[in-house]
Amino acid sequence: MSQSRVWHPFTQHALEPAIPEIVRTEGAYLHRADGTRVLDAISSWWVVTHGHRHPRIVKAIETTAASLDQIIFAGFTHEPAERLAEALVNLAPPGLDWVFYSDSGSTSVEVALKMALGYFRNIGAPRSRIVVMEHGYHGDTIGTMSVGARGVFNAAYEPLLFEVDTIPFPAAGREQETLDRFEAVSRDQRAAALIVEPLVLGAGGMLMYPARVLAELKKIADASGTLLIADEVMTGWGRTGTLFACEQANISPDILCTSKGLTGGTIPLAATLATDAIFQAHYSTDRKRTFFHSSSYTANPIACAAALANVEIWNDEPVAERITALGALQAAGLRRFSDNPFFTDTRATGTIAALDLRAASPGYLAEIGPKLRAFFLDQGLLVRPLGNVLYLLPPYCITGDELDRLYDTIEEAGERFGSKP
Ligand SMILES: *Cc1c(COP(=O)(O)O)cnc(C)c1O
Repeated sequence: MSQSRVWHPFTQHALEPAIPEIVRTEGAYLHRADGTRVLDAISSWWVVTHGHRHPRIVKAIETTAASLDQIIFAGFTHEPAERLAEALVNLAPPGLDWVFYSDSGSTSVEVALKMALGYFRNIGAPRSRIVVMEHGYHGDTIGTMSVGARGVFNAAYEPLLFEVDTIPFPAAGREQETLDRFEAVSRDQRAAALIVEPLVLGAGGMLMYPARVLAELKKIADASGTLLIADEVMTGWGRTGTLFACEQANISPDILCTSKGLTGGTIPLAATLATDAIFQAHYSTDRKRTFFHSSSYTANPIACAAALANVEIWNDEPVAERITALGALQAAGLRRFSDNPFFTDTRATGTIAALDLRAASPGYLAEIGPKLRAFFLDQGLLVRPLGNVLYLLPPYCITGDELDRLYDTIEEAGERFGSKP
């Protein structure tokens, strides 16, 4: 092959000479051009839920492409979008009655932030502060970087990022600090919204906190009229053990963002769900109150059909049982590490398991990350640590034997790369 002209995401090309080519995907595997296969233990960056290329989703894509491609979604509608919106409203926590489509997790968050500010402006009580959680991640656009953790990823763009109020991550034993801080910053009623990843902070290092903290945050938000935006881009579609993570806290956020697993990991689509109050604040004969947002590929019919097939799979296959079984396998896998000196902080929520490798120099840019990645890939395993944080976030079709292999290899990685306390 001639030299590639592709600039890959989050990739330091000077350190990564040969990028493997994938020619086919199926179930839990990526098939490489050289004939070998790779077990996808991170669901291709958290998007694949049931498994790669679930036949019903592939079929829906093929069928829909035979009659519809993109159609302008301002002033026109189509059946896949209508049916999917209805299904999403029925599946989401109660009170989320309106569905706004876009095409990525980041845009679904941008839409959420704009809805929040538009709401307060339109009700005549403008608010513009956004409250965020320490270590949060919401995307890589300027707005979503602004509400995410600051660090090496966005240092160059810092001058463009807007100011936010940050509440501490509710680490075990320090949950009250988080709640107290949120109460303090929301008291002056200038905060338009609190944005959080419910239960699991993904890119921040698979950090987990209990559902009761989320429930308390919602109470405090309600008391000060601050909107709660639940960024379920990663946590949605069963990842944390329930369809949406918010269910475990028994709350309905004011705005919910979903993307990644929405089409089962086949094609891009996102949706931002909002309450009727937020919709009504924009509903007016005054054009100035219009919700001024669109993506060219808003509500792509083929993507909507893929998402509908995903919903149907949830409705008539035992997905909930699969998730529960996977959660139990993950918990059992982690138990092996309870007294392993090379690891600390074993943790799991639903289908997600994580543990920290004791490394001489932790942190995202530490050399250990790429070394671990190469070590796993040599053994046909796609594991992509966040610095020294190892995690498994597999498709739901993964088997117990495959997980065993992953945990065996994590043990080996500990011996090879870890340091004892
Ligand atoms: C991945 C992710 C996003 C961004 O989604 P993209 O589709 O990559 O833009 C936003 N929020 C969370 C919680 C995510 O994990």
